[in-house]
Amino acid sequence: MSENIIGYVKADGEIVDTQSVGDSCEGCREIAYDNSPEALEIIRHSTAHLMAQAIRELYPDAQFFVGPVVDEGFYYDFRTSEKIGEEDLKKIEKKMKELVKKKIPIEKYEISKEEAAQKFKNDDLKQAVLKNIPSETVSIYRQGEFEDLCRGPHVPNTRYLHNFKLTRIAGAYLGGDENAEMLTRIYGVAFADKESLKNYLQMMEEAKKRDHRKLGTELDLFMFDEEAGAGLPFWLPKGARLRSKLEQILWRSHRRRGYEPVRGPEILKAEMWRTSGHYACYGENMYLTEIDGQEYGLKPMNCIGHILMFKHSTKSYRDLPLKYFEYGVVHRHEKSGVLHGLLRVREFTQDDAHIFCTPEQIKPVVLEVVEFVDAVMKKFGFEYTMEISTKPEKAIGDDAVWEIATNALKEALDENGLAYGIDEGGGAFYGPKIDVKITDAIGRKWQCGTVQVDFNLPERFDVEYVAEDNTRQRPVMIHRAILGSFERFIAILTEHYAGEFPFFIAPTQVIFVPIAAEHTAYARELAAELTEREIDSEIYDRNDSLNKRIRLAEKQKVPYVVIVGDEEVKQRSVAIRDRRKKEQYNLSADDFMLQLSQQLQEGKI
Ligand SMILES: [Zn+2]
Ligand SMILES: [Zn+2]
Repeated sequence: MSENIIGYVKADGEIVDTQSVGDSCEGCREIAYDNSPEALEIIRHSTAHLMAQAIRELYPDAQFFVGPVVDEGFYYDFRTSEKIGEEDLKKIEKKMKELVKKKIPIEKYEISKEEAAQKFKNDDLKQAVLKNIPSETVSIYRQGEFEDLCRGPHVPNTRYLHNFKLTRIAGAYLGGDENAEMLTRIYGVAFADKESLKNYLQMMEEAKKRDHRKLGTELDLFMFDEEAGAGLPFWLPKGARLRSKLEQILWRSHRRRGYEPVRGPEILKAEMWRTSGHYACYGENMYLTEIDGQEYGLKPMNCIGHILMFKHSTKSYRDLPLKYFEYGVVHRHEKSGVLHGLLRVREFTQDDAHIFCTPEQIKPVVLEVVEFVDAVMKKFGFEYTMEISTKPEKAIGDDAVWEIATNALKEALDENGLAYGIDEGGGAFYGPKIDVKITDAIGRKWQCGTVQVDFNLPERFDVEYVAEDNTRQRPVMIHRAILGSFERFIAILTEHYAGEFPFFIAPTQVIFVPIAAEHTAYARELAAELTEREIDSEIYDRNDSLNKRIRLAEKQKVPYVVIVGDEEVKQRSVAIRDRRKKEQYNLSADDFMLQLSQQLQEGKI
């Protein structure tokens, strides 16, 4: 066996370690010691155990619950009589490094469940874990004196583990139950090599600086008020300006592509949500209320309104594809624990559209949506990848229609030369879909847009159009959002640009700094002209020193800070500090206006 092999992937996708299968594994793929997802699974799980071993040595009465691998690393939940805090992480890391140096073999053996119950008889957390294991035998991993009940997989020796960092300590309810005991949880990350760990930690450091909640406060974009309700954002003037610019740009780009704006009510009778299936499948995330003795539900999605408007008058094949779009405000109940700035909220606005078309039109429609996605993402400098999810086992609709739809999605991407992954069987029961994942300036991935083909709702609401041969036919419905929601997208944009928004959406595009009080009138005149040109400016004429006002202006990360004094008033000019290009120059007021108006056009999508 090669030194470098730390496990295998079985034919069914299960990851097994070398302790479980010995020197070779028939029909398996080898897992080398690198940063592949499979290798990281083994490395991170092993690092979680290493951390547990270190904690046990430092706190002998420590008892451990579960220690899984999560998105970016791992954690372990445990209990100690002594309280552990942030300041103890260093000490635990140091102990972990000692254990690595000792090159302790990590061994595996199996025992019956009763034997395990006996072995851990003084450990109620392990008893709780044991209760949830269905099999009769369980495996134990041993490294030195430390033993843990575990399925694995693990590296063969602690010496494989050196590129790790403990990142965070938190409280976690036993089994996620809010009424249960609070355990301690420590999070960490681990990689196969030093460089990757260093890059990851740098990225995290950068992400902290860019946190949209922090920048949102510094730049006065939005606020939350726990007294008024969690997860309900308030857009302050600057945030509302930013958002409204984005809305206007997107509005025009929808109109240019033949979308018709519509607007449905925020609340519909529960009966509608029963017909759509939301009441049964999504009911616990909906806010329900009663009006005149009848049950109503706040909309969690905009689809129903668009269907009812489609059905309002007879539609013919000539009307298709018909594209309705709406900045649809939706409400969804999210658990308070998952709310996170603008990224996870309870009220948000989707850039939502529903396209009604024939099965033959799916491909050209999707092609056009994909072009739209591409134009938007390029405008904001995002790289992106796509994934197609195909028919799941339980699905409605004819196989033939599924095939047409799925092929249409694939062909649309192929013809655009776009690479995509396939999530086999990952589609919704009512149709296949494309998900768009974007990568931001510091390499983080975000799920944004989606294009979803739907055979189900047209059926449930008996939607029809008159075909060329005068028969009544069922249209296909395509749900699509490009940003996802304004809230989430603005959170991502804020972090992507670190608050330095491009000119065409910057909340404040220009700050005027008059040198003395007598120059304020000229600044006001210029500001009024900018307002006419739909450009937002502010005047910093407070009673502070000139230097202080310039500093404050630059802190706002606006594209242009403009100084006006005697010379500028006399010449009708401006002295510009362009902090993006790190340049200072003078322009006539007229040229300045022209330049900004042209720059505004760059926002066209
Ligand atoms: Zn384990
Ligand atoms: Zn929809």
